[in-house]
Amino acid sequence: MKAKNYMEEADQILMHTYSRFQIVLDKGEGVYLYDMEGKKYLDFAAGIAVFALGYGNQQYNDALKLQIDKLLHTSNLYYNVPMIEAAKKFVKASGMDRVFFTNSGTEAIEGAIKLARKYYYKKKGDAGSEIISMNHSFHGRSMGALSITGTKKYREAFEPLIGGVAFAEYNDLESVKAQIKENTCAIIMEPVQGEGGIYPAEQAFIEGVRKLCDDNDILLIFDEIQCGMGRTGEMFAYQKYGVKPDIITSAKALGCGVPVGAFAATQKVAKAFEPGDHGTTYGGNPFATAAVSKVFDIFDSEKLLEHVNEVAPYLYEKLEELVDKYDIIKEHRGIGLMQGLEFTIPVKDIILKAVDAGLIIISAGANIIRFVPALIIEKSHVDEMVEILDGVLKSI
Ligand SMILES: *Cc1c(COP(=O)(O)O)cnc(C)c1O
Repeated sequence: MKAKNYMEEADQILMHTYSRFQIVLDKGEGVYLYDMEGKKYLDFAAGIAVFALGYGNQQYNDALKLQIDKLLHTSNLYYNVPMIEAAKKFVKASGMDRVFFTNSGTEAIEGAIKLARKYYYKKKGDAGSEIISMNHSFHGRSMGALSITGTKKYREAFEPLIGGVAFAEYNDLESVKAQIKENTCAIIMEPVQGEGGIYPAEQAFIEGVRKLCDDNDILLIFDEIQCGMGRTGEMFAYQKYGVKPDIITSAKALGCGVPVGAFAATQKVAKAFEPGDHGTTYGGNPFATAAVSKVFDIFDSEKLLEHVNEVAPYLYEKLEELVDKYDIIKEHRGIGLMQGLEFTIPVKDIILKAVDAGLIIISAGANIIRFVPALIIEKSHVDEMVEILDGVLKSI
């Protein structure tokens, strides 16, 4: 069957929740993707900040193949070695004490919300706590995660959502302060907002929020589902800021393609959970955690953080050149290999033309192009990307 027929079929049988690009992807190699017709694309989206290692990393693939043959799934009623190995690596890298593996980012957020509420419940002997989240944040699509997602259009049709959520302005400490109440149990934020448009937290803001939390006995939750796992040049973005959360969430590049997420906490907070408080059938099964474990190994052996810190400034510089060249580019933001260009016009056409020209990029909001490539990209890939994008922008 031809790509066109597949797409027509898909439009009949899949829920219409996405406006998909008109391509059927078939295989990946390094930082390139190929569609069914064999057309090659340079990928600067990496499956939405997922494929940190690029496509077809042999060590990673071999580890997964071995685990498939050995033991794919057991459940959380028993121990298994890949889960324990992955947990050790996760707590070491994140500076947290205890971790719970989930199947996705949104479930990691659900777990973090539940843990914060349980911690408050144990402390006060009373439920009814509130969480403060940020406008323009994105935390996922399940009902709890949606409740704390700061974009009204995502939430509206699904109300009533979970209660006890207040929203504050990102990078505006006074607005956070104004939302604090006696029953506030946690403040959740992305150290670098992703979907909301690639907005890094200002140093004074993130430090200020930490202090507000300390002064008011409130938990600080960092959603590092997109900005974590090396994207900023540190394993977790909070390490870049030197401001440590009480709870952290991870997913996306954590499994580099295998659906897995995690939430982790300091001992003091994690202790609030007792057997029966939370669970999942698949979460952290041997297959998923074999991936996580191997991802951490490869980050080490391939010195990926060093590589990010080497190539990211080059990406920054090259995007700055585009800012200078085109008046329709309003602003350039980002840290490490998580950068964005804000345009004065909607970027949909630019992105479609780029894809046509063999470059996969994605938006983050209507006017922002987001660059979240595999962490293994080389400067030559940056050059190639900029050349294609420059060609597209010339034609706009
Ligand atoms: C993608 C994302 C989520 C949701 O993760 P899913 O795996 O899609 O459920 C949550 N928070 C942030 C910051 C994200 O980027």
